[in-house]
Amino acid sequence: MEIKDFVKKRKEELKEEISKINKTISFLIIQVNDDEASNAYVKGKIKDASEVGINAILKRYPTSITEEELLKEIDKTNNDQNIYGIIVQMPLPKHIDEKKVSLAISIKKDIDGFHPMSLFTPCTPKGIISYLDEENFNYDSKNALVIGRSHIVGRPIAELLLNRNCNVTITHSHTKSDDLRRYVKNADLIVVAIGKTYFLDKTYEYKNDAYIIDVGINRTGDGLKGDCKPSLPVKLQTPVPKGVGLLTRLSLIENILEAYKYGI
Ligand code: NAP
Repeated sequence: MEIKDFVKKRKEELKEEISKINKTISFLIIQVNDDEASNAYVKGKIKDASEVGINAILKRYPTSITEEELLKEIDKTNNDQNIYGIIVQMPLPKHIDEKKVSLAISIKKDIDGFHPMSLFTPCTPKGIISYLDEENFNYDSKNALVIGRSHIVGRPIAELLLNRNCNVTITHSHTKSDDLRRYVKNADLIVVAIGKTYFLDKTYEYKNDAYIIDVGINRTGDGLKGDCKPSLPVKLQTPVPKGVGLLTRLSLIENILEAYKYGI
């Protein structure tokens, strides 16, 4: 099933489930920037929420806000009985420590799943697994290659795949080119999350029944592009746009509902 159809189906199921809950499920988005990409992400989150019956509250602050003021706002929301989740839209201004802010969010409200003790799975890895499940990907003993080792995508997806009994290889910017080509050739599943337009292309050899999950979002003069050139000779390759980004958004909605179920 195409990702957009899968997401549509899941959103209808979520809407149905949420309509039976006799309480408004609200979450807070804190934005302290005005960059184009963040505005688009925030808009998307509000739209997704309203489509399934969740109430998104957006609070925008000037970039002059101090770290202390922001932490105070988070603390207040951590204790607010009517708000089930908190998102701080990154990036934050340079004078604010992003890590400190992420760690200030209650682990019961950290619906992005960025806190190391968070009760939630980070949205992008969670969305990738839901889609692979939907596609009946058989994880057991498969060779999974994760390209990129970020804390929000590469590392958590590697762990989720390992938990499903894949043989997981993680590569990064220090991986030698010949080694990467060997790993790619041998992979049943490749998750690419590096942010380099068309990094994987037809110069690599692939298994013809491989699955490629393209996480990359690269803004080019010619629109959004993935980390993989389209139409590689494999069984399944996720598109960019309308690919993993939609799965990430879906997972956020699922995490908000999960937060409601945990209770405050
Ligand atoms: P990130 O923090 O931007 O880090 C990039 C990672 O790629 C690092 O681990 C880096 O290795 C690795 N890398 C860079 N050049 C490489 C190369 N030539 N070969 C192998 N690895 C290389 O990672 P991120 O936050 O996960 O973002 C990655 C991409 O995914 C970006 O385009 C981002 O916009 C996109 N993204 C999309 C979604 C979505 O929902 N679709 C969600 C999150 C991120 P080192 O560690 O060695 O530096």
